[in-house]
Amino acid sequence: PLLRPDPQPGEQQGEDRALRPQQLSDFIGQAEARANLRVFVESARRRGEAMDHTLFHGPPGLGKTTLANIISRELGVNFRMTSGPVLARPGDLAAILTNLEARDVLFIDEIHRLNPVVEEVLYPAMEDFELDLVIGEGPAARTVRIELQPFTLIGATTRLGLLTTPLRDRFGIPTRLQFYTIDELHEIVTRNARLLGIPAEAEGAREIASRARGTPRIAGRLLRRVVDFALVEGDGHLSRALADSALTRLGVDTLGLDSADRRYLRLIAENYGGGPVGVETMSAALSESRDALEEVIEPYLLQQGLIQRTPRGRMLAQKAWRHLGLEIPQQPDS
Ligand code: ADP
Repeated sequence: PLLRPDPQPGEQQGEDRALRPQQLSDFIGQAEARANLRVFVESARRRGEAMDHTLFHGPPGLGKTTLANIISRELGVNFRMTSGPVLARPGDLAAILTNLEARDVLFIDEIHRLNPVVEEVLYPAMEDFELDLVIGEGPAARTVRIELQPFTLIGATTRLGLLTTPLRDRFGIPTRLQFYTIDELHEIVTRNARLLGIPAEAEGAREIASRARGTPRIAGRLLRRVVDFALVEGDGHLSRALADSALTRLGVDTLGLDSADRRYLRLIAENYGGGPVGVETMSAALSESRDALEEVIEPYLLQQGLIQRTPRGRMLAQKAWRHLGLEIPQQPDS
């Protein structure tokens, strides 16, 4: 669970909040998205209108929730947060929408998991700021139309492909978040260490950054664990040697892969001769859901060039054989 980029209990509310950037100018990385958002926020402010609906997509832990929060702050409006699976019935969504004030931001996490009947209600709300609610049942049922305040919907999803086309088309500002570079993560780790009051050597922070799987949430979590080792077994300050030994003890290797990643790679190497192998087969063999493989494990392995996706399934790339310390099998001549 150390490397899983989902929020862990306690992280979302308490200690983590101190580290969340509060303004676009504190937000490190995602330069292109940030530059564009700055324009859209400024334009909405000058016009005095709600900003256009925005969709953030990309792997977990890259800053979707953080950015949504920052946008509402920069717009000077309220931030309301919910998530796809929580909105079970149209009434749940209606209750939230009718409580919004003009130009507020409504953030819906995991928007690909919205119930289709709730999604239907969302369409006219997004397009015309109107709600059509059915009251009563059978022949006595009637529809009432409720006018809403103009608002900005910010949706977040790890799986753009699972969004229905009508929903996707209603977002004026679709934004893809990318994995962070080591330099960007280095800056983030340095900033977090400073906020936590921990003396960190540049090389120590860099070691954490280079093993954080391109993900700020993981960088934050690794930093805390390394600090634990520094306090209990070191002299309280974060050096490269200490970071290296702590991370190695936690099972995080030099590329930042954890045991689940290595198990995934080894399965393809050892059981399927390097692939191709279908994702369903992988899912059964690893006892991991297909979603977990596709949302959490594979994006980083793909980005690192450790695996390739082909129409016939996943294949191990040369870099993965080298990383596992295994001989690349000879390809039969064809
Ligand atoms: P997501 O919604 O994409 O899963 P979050 O917005 O919850 O990700 O971010 C995960 C964690 O990483 C939070 O603790 C947040 O403070 C931190 N974080 C994300 N992006 C950045 C960034 N660019 N700079 C500093 N910290 C960041």
